[in-house]
Amino acid sequence: MSDIRTHNPISPPDDNSVGIYIHVPFCRTRCHYCAFVTSPYDPGLEEPYTSLVIKEMGLWATGKAREILAQDVLVETIYFGGGTPSLLRSDLIAKIIDACHAKFRVIASPEITIEINPASSHRRALKELCAAGVNRVSLGIQSLNDEDLRRMGRAHNSRDAVSIFKDIRAVGFDNVSVDLLAGFPGQSMNSVSNSLEQVLNLGPDHLSVYLFELKEGTRIESLLRDGKESASDDDLAADQYEHICRVTKSAGYDHYEISNFSRGGHFSRHNLKYWNDEIYLGFGPGAHGMTGRHRYYDLMDFRQYQQALSRNELPLASLTELNPFTRFKDALIMGSRLVEGLSLSRLGARYGIDAFAFVDETAGDLHSGGLYRIVGDTLVLTPRGLLLSNVIFSRWI
Ligand code: SF4
Repeated sequence: MSDIRTHNPISPPDDNSVGIYIHVPFCRTRCHYCAFVTSPYDPGLEEPYTSLVIKEMGLWATGKAREILAQDVLVETIYFGGGTPSLLRSDLIAKIIDACHAKFRVIASPEITIEINPASSHRRALKELCAAGVNRVSLGIQSLNDEDLRRMGRAHNSRDAVSIFKDIRAVGFDNVSVDLLAGFPGQSMNSVSNSLEQVLNLGPDHLSVYLFELKEGTRIESLLRDGKESASDDDLAADQYEHICRVTKSAGYDHYEISNFSRGGHFSRHNLKYWNDEIYLGFGPGAHGMTGRHRYYDLMDFRQYQQALSRNELPLASLTELNPFTRFKDALIMGSRLVEGLSLSRLGARYGIDAFAFVDETAGDLHSGGLYRIVGDTLVLTPRGLLLSNVIFSRWI
């Protein structure tokens, strides 16, 4: 490849606004498709976990991580993900939110999201979360077909999911997202289409639809290997995705990212930080962050995480210095996920790299193959490109 790097600045982030991600690693059971970092739920760990996360935050907010963060930050979003954040007592969630305010500068109206599992929440807890300042809920419904939920290994049924959605609305949340899963082995078009229709009838403000991906070490992998489930059908999954894009559009949702749809301007402000190449700090076992100059991963093992913090050390499993070329490629991959596309001239100027030449040299054949278009200075994935985005992104890793 010719040298397309025109100069080599260490690119500082454009501003100091950040998102905070809190990883709550506990789950009661393991869903069959899940490869996330999780530990078995133990109520005895809730308080120690909370103190450790707050301690980690403190190390980042004060001198300890100064050389990594190298600037004051202004927190715009806080996101509790997992794992199952709704297993954590709401007073402990409130304590973590208070600690964010105490240790960092936080804007006046931050977006504060929590992922809720229908199997582990109830109306009183939702009310308390609302009172604690949580203003956005992401509800993991995945499907409203009970047989599919069973085969996915979910710990709830469709009735639980609908009922908790109604509770979420009833306690006053006006920014609610729903997660659905499509393309799961054996999941029919009928099942996906019925689930989508019922979810749209509930009227969420935001929808995330993930296409099943087979991950190593998952229960579904062994079920498939033992012939107890039949392999998913890529063509059917593609049809399901196209169906979802079509139906959500006619229901008034804006398809703004490969897997995400919103209405009434209810985009995920937190996730937009990832797609827009902004800084985020992750806290909790297995969390990761990107400080502009570094990417880091926290220790996944709860005991090791605890031991590092008890020595007043950042509980890091890895800390990698990012060079402009690495950040450029990450930003290209993340930014291309946005349906409106990514300005290659802006991206190139930010990192001192000829983005047009890079894209052409690494993925010019995919342009001819109809996976993306260049409109003015913007790279836009085509509908086929949205579906086959991994093929494009694999060229930029
Ligand atoms: S609840 Fe979420 S994190 Fe926990 S096992 Fe299921 S998919 Fe994984």
